Amino acid sequence: MKTYSHWIDGAFQEPASGQWMHTIDPYQGEPWANIPCGNSEDASIAVAAAKRAMTTGPWAGMSATERGKIMRRIGDITLENLDRLAEIEVRDNGKLLAEMNGVIKNVAEIWYYYAGLADKIEGSVMPMEKAGVVGFTTREPIGVVLALTAWNAPLNFLALKCAPALAAGCSAVVKPSEFSSASSLEFVALTKQAGLPDGVLNVVTGLGKDIGAPLVEHRDVAMITFTGSDITGAKVYEAAARQMKRVAMELGGKSPNIVFEDADLEQAVAGAISGIFGGGGQMCTAGSRLLVQNSIKEKFTQLVVAAAHAVKVGNPMEAATQMGPMSTAPQFQKVMEYIDIASAEGAKCIAGGKPAVGPGIKGGQFIEPTIFTDVTNNMRIAQEEVFGPVLCIIGFENEAEAIEIANDTLYGLAAGIWTSNIGRLFRMSKALQVGTVWGNTYRTYSYLMPFGGMKQSGVGRELGIEAVNEFLETKSIMISIADAQPQNNFVPR
Ligand code: NAD
Repeated sequence: MKTYSHWIDGAFQEPASGQWMHTIDPYQGEPWANIPCGNSEDASIAVAAAKRAMTTGPWAGMSATERGKIMRRIGDITLENLDRLAEIEVRDNGKLLAEMNGVIKNVAEIWYYYAGLADKIEGSVMPMEKAGVVGFTTREPIGVVLALTAWNAPLNFLALKCAPALAAGCSAVVKPSEFSSASSLEFVALTKQAGLPDGVLNVVTGLGKDIGAPLVEHRDVAMITFTGSDITGAKVYEAAARQMKRVAMELGGKSPNIVFEDADLEQAVAGAISGIFGGGGQMCTAGSRLLVQNSIKEKFTQLVVAAAHAVKVGNPMEAATQMGPMSTAPQFQKVMEYIDIASAEGAKCIAGGKPAVGPGIKGGQFIEPTIFTDVTNNMRIAQEEVFGPVLCIIGFENEAEAIEIANDTLYGLAAGIWTSNIGRLFRMSKALQVGTVWGNTYRTYSYLMPFGGMKQSGVGRELGIEAVNEFLETKSIMISIADAQPQNNFVPR
């Protein structure tokens, strides 16, 4: 069994605790590797390395163009190691190999995109209102960035956070989820081959309370970028606020996928199914509330149920599989509890609802594609994030009611609209309180398009040019060019 160490200052380093924990293959239901149990001592060593890299190391003096070239090589090396990295992701999180292959290809694209952006970060020269002073701004790296990531797509999160951070000139410490840390450790070691100076990117592992919390509290961490649950996100936000640290938060969702009677129903069924059963529903953007216009609700429900029964559940390494296991044992328990809660609330289970069994199914963490109807939007099953293959179907009468139900949630991550009415697509895009709207598609992503949540789904944006701003400070510089000091230049603030 492979035993990993932290990656700090360009080398593997054993944990200060001298302790490791198992990481489990959710398909086999068995440990397949050991990862370090990090603590506050490891946190301090990693942050110190990242701080040195940003202050006295070669990264600090490097031109943005040179930084971009190294980041480009990180993209190349990602592609060269695609198969290996994708397999490690699947072993740790049980997602489909085909999906993880696509994700890792996209990871390389993210590194390429921000490599190109590194030397396009510019300040401005101001037309000053008084003669004798030149005023301009520079954009400077905020400092050491802490990236805390969730278990469902670790290398994707690492790229989403660290590629713009490095383009901005920052260094980073990454703390991946204790359930899926191996890929981040494998990946970060490759960055050395790309020529990334020691200490710029560090990965430490362990439980959130043991090493995540001390990292958040560390005085030399300037900013925290977090992907995970809103409950942990709020704890991290509170701790960051005590030191006025900047945060970017990518949190949960309860996204509505809204189907009108004039939609292409075949397409809408495919969007509804992949929106909730893709990744076993373990996606922040899962379209877990299917809002269907009452005039087609019965017919559409039948189509969705038939499609759910056809979803092939099994070994995530096999090409024909469409849904793998729940990534973690606690997540399996949580989803099963929500199925019970929904039934107790009076929702009617019309597909699935049980652990999945059958040929090719192992490890005890599979759940059948599950659909509830007779759901009202105030039920817990319609309000709380399940993060599993559980869909609730809710009827609506007209556009106004669809918008009201869609927005009646604490979350605001994404929404899908299925209709052939173009005007409605524009009207609803404006009215929905979410960070991403999909019209006649679902789960379409682009590294050019900013991604993030409104309301309790988050703070800040990842991807696109916007993401790099999260890691920059603007500095205003005013220099007198007059022979004598200008008079009356003191404006109190
Ligand atoms: P989580 O909140 O349990 O953990 C996230 C990270 O925080 C982990 O690395 C964990 O170890 C760490 N952590 C836990 N306690 C901590 C503490 N006190 N201080 C510092 N760090 C701590 O989330 P999870 O269960 O790994 O991920 C699932 C959640 O992530 C879901 O809610 C999902 O919606 C969300 N998610 C959001 C997005 C998005 O982009 N919006 C994407 C994927 C997942």
